Order: sequence, then C-alpha cells, then structure tokens
Amino acid sequence: MSDRDTRHQQAMQKLKAHVDEKVARATEQRGLLLVFTGNGKGKTTAAWGTVTRALGYGYRVGVVQFIKGLWECGERDRLQDDPNLEVVIMATGFTWETQNREADTRACREVWAEAQRLLADPGVYLVVLDELTYMLKFGYLDIGMVKRAIENRPREQTVIITGRNAHRELVALADTVTEMQEVRHAFNGGIQARRGIDY
Ligand code: ATP
Ligand code: MG
Repeated sequence: MSDRDTRHQQAMQKLKAHVDEKVARATEQRGLLLVFTGNGKGKTTAAWGTVTRALGYGYRVGVVQFIKGLWECGERDRLQDDPNLEVVIMATGFTWETQNREADTRACREVWAEAQRLLADPGVYLVVLDELTYMLKFGYLDIGMVKRAIENRPREQTVIITGRNAHRELVALADTVTEMQEVRHAFNGGIQARRGIDY
C-alpha cells in the first residue's frame, strides 16, 4: 500500500470509531422537535420532504399552514389524496397584504386550535407548523401557549416548525435546528418565483 493509501485507511478507521461511538451513545427513541429557520430558501421544502418521507412509511401526518394557506402549493396538491395526510390552512388567508390585526389574530387562533388538536393526538406521527414563527413575531400567538402544547405532545410525535426569525425559546427547546443561510436568491436578481420550484 502506498503512503497515501495507508494514511487514508488510518483516517477512515478513526472516522469509523468516532461514528460508532456516536451511534452507541444515541440510545434514546422519541419524537423530535425540529426548527427550520434562517433567510435562505428551503425551509418549507424541507418540511414537505419530511412529510413525504413519513407518509412513505404509512404514518399519519398533519400540516398546518399559518401563511399562504390559499396560495398554490404543489406538494399539497400532490399529497392531499393520501388518507394519512391532513392539511389545515388558514382559511381567511393571512398574507403580507392583509393588515387587519384583529382579523388576522382571529384567523390565527382558529388555525392554532386545529394545531393543538393535532399536537394532542398520539396517532399523529408528524406535525408541521409551517411559518409559525411569524405568528409569534406579530404577537398573534403567545410563546408560552405554543411551548406548552409542544412540550405536552405525545412522546412519539415529531414536530417541525418553519419560518424566519425563530423565537429563541423555540430554538432552545428544539432537538434539531437548521438555519438556511442565503448565499444568493434569484428573486433579488429580478427573477419571479417559479411554479413547481418555489411553490
Ligand atoms: P421554500 O418554500 O422555497 O422552501 P422557504 O420556506 O425557505 O422557501 P419562505 O421565507 O417561506 O422560504 O419564502 C417562501 C417563498 O419565498 C418561496 O417562494 C421561496 O422560494 C421564496 N424565498 C425563499 N427565500 C427567499 C429569499 N431569501 N429571498 C427571496 N425569496 C425567497
Ligand atoms: Mg416557507
């Protein structure tokens, strides 16, 4: 074996020992809290990817869309016939255009009641709270109330929260936090959001 091969083999053995040790230490089995945040693209895409993954094993999944509920959404269209998927959308359609605080708060609370139902249902394996972070930011929902519902959820249930500027208490509570970092976004170069790619 060449020196280079020997060095590679030693490095790989070290890596394997390191990974094996980590695998041996990961003994706990329970549902997770994941937060996908940051300004870069990919948060909602990653959440729907996980939804597809869970549905693939026949698990029940609930998706709650706190913003853009009435907007087009390719994943929702594709997956909505799956009897294991329930999608709750904010019917009155909170968007950046509506600026009626009272109406938005009411719409948000209605959707939150549905989210609470899903978060209390041990038959639901995965709950996605898409764009929930803005509801906290605008004060439509109280962080204490959201934390309580998440903390008291069934042990086997996983929750994914997406949105920019995640509340620090949510970040502190989460098992996995991923920050999508924007290196560049086409929109800022004047390119329109693209059907089937951006929504
Ligand atoms: P996606 O739904 O594509 O995974 P996202 O959930 O990470 O994006 P949001 O902040 O929810 O991002 O934005 C939703 C829409 O805005 C999507 O059409 C997305 O492509 C677009 N978008 C995402 N990031 C940026 C950005 N940094 N600048 C401009 N537009 C963005
Ligand atoms: Mg999103």
